[in-house]
Amino acid sequence: MFNRADTNTVRPIEGDIAHERANFQRFRQTPCLHRPPMYSRDPSHSPSPGGYMPTALITALDTLDIRFPTSLELDGSDAMNPDPDYSAAYVILRTDDPDGLAGHGFAFTIGRGNDVQRAAIQSLGRLVIGRSVAEITGDLGGFARILTADSQLRWLGPEKGVVHMAAGAVINAAWDLAAKRAGKPVWQLVSEMTPEQIVDLVDFRYLTDALTRDEALHILHTAAPGRAARAETLLATGYPAYTTSPGWLGYSDAKLARLARQAVADGFGTIKIKVGRDVDEDARRVEIARAAIGPDIGLAVDANQRWDVDAAVAWISRLAPAGLAWVEEPTSPDDILGHAEIRRRVAPVRISTGEHGQNRILFKQLLQAGAVDILQIDAARVGGVNENLAILLLAAKFGVPVVPHAGGVGLCELVQHLAMIDYVAISGTMDGRAIEYVDHLHEHFRDPVQVRGGRYLAPRTPGFSAEMLPTTLAAYAYPDGIAWHTEPFADNPAAASTKEYEIS
Ligand SMILES: [Mg+2]
Repeated sequence: MFNRADTNTVRPIEGDIAHERANFQRFRQTPCLHRPPMYSRDPSHSPSPGGYMPTALITALDTLDIRFPTSLELDGSDAMNPDPDYSAAYVILRTDDPDGLAGHGFAFTIGRGNDVQRAAIQSLGRLVIGRSVAEITGDLGGFARILTADSQLRWLGPEKGVVHMAAGAVINAAWDLAAKRAGKPVWQLVSEMTPEQIVDLVDFRYLTDALTRDEALHILHTAAPGRAARAETLLATGYPAYTTSPGWLGYSDAKLARLARQAVADGFGTIKIKVGRDVDEDARRVEIARAAIGPDIGLAVDANQRWDVDAAVAWISRLAPAGLAWVEEPTSPDDILGHAEIRRRVAPVRISTGEHGQNRILFKQLLQAGAVDILQIDAARVGGVNENLAILLLAAKFGVPVVPHAGGVGLCELVQHLAMIDYVAISGTMDGRAIEYVDHLHEHFRDPVQVRGGRYLAPRTPGFSAEMLPTTLAAYAYPDGIAWHTEPFADNPAAASTKEYEIS
């Protein structure tokens, strides 16, 4: 059904799964560091000379503090986040596979949050180290539930905040591992699963009043007959993108107009600009952007949680005459009823949120309350691929389009896979959908996104596109990497976090 990319890391994925599932059930309740390994490295267990050894184990969970001094150029600045340094609390699941198989993932932060985020990821090591690669990749739903169910860590959430983002980083690293092992990009790996296998990835706890397992199966079975044709379309023509690159709050009017025109010339059908600092200034910038892109290109605005409900209504009403594609994050990401109230009072202007949505339960309530016109998932905010599949299924049930958030280092690389899964296997449509594109830092990835003519090309390299280059992991390690010992940081490394900046 799909083109299979060449790779020397292709691995059989079905082999001993049934046997290992049974072992997994037996061992899953026992913390890894307190039990003997399930599989040995005895060479006699190797199934084929020079071939894959199903005995490979997770040998380490490494964490790295990677920070980019993005604040120097004001890339990414918004009304609530004036000083971001795009950062990754980075995780590598290392194995003893003879080919060096490893899974890469990260939680996105904007700088100092990496101190806390990295510690949270490290705390999950006891749940992971010592497990077999086959048991994890053979039951990614069970693995995700293990990471979110540790009672002493769960107390810090439950299923929200730093501890949940840590679980998401490790779960996504496991998906990178599984996809590399299968020789497929993540979007293709999931899109080739049966509906039953996909629902097994989802934790339906707290969702069944809005979406049952049977309803999810119905959605997936309905989409199944068209999967092959849609995958071919995706590989041939890609997936629509919109761009935030012109609209950072710290940019001058001239730079906004120039980048907006460039975005149209590059083929983007929608651009997004930041608002929320000053209403008169926003009205002027919206008019500049509209004049630059003309009447037929979408113009979205993003307030990054800036307003209370009444302020949002007043501000949006002031900007609406310019013609808005949507208004993003008008208020607190937790305020479901506030979003519903804003949406009701500014209709037909469309309201969106979700990049700071903490878990599937919040997304469920946004949909139940009729609070949004558009959902914006983030690949590194919730509990990894698994929880985002739950959110995509919820959105399909309620008929709300998903327009993924991707403003940050590596978020474009990850979330493209989720949007493509949605198209091929869940909603079956790209109508009204586009993946955010921000033109920053892609050069640091082994498999960077490819955007051509305003569309994401489907990844073909096995994995989750999450892996940064070794040179980047060395140079941008904080605080010792060379990037943090070059002017202007040599005398004051914190300087990068004290300048004006923004986020999407
Ligand atoms: Mg945003």
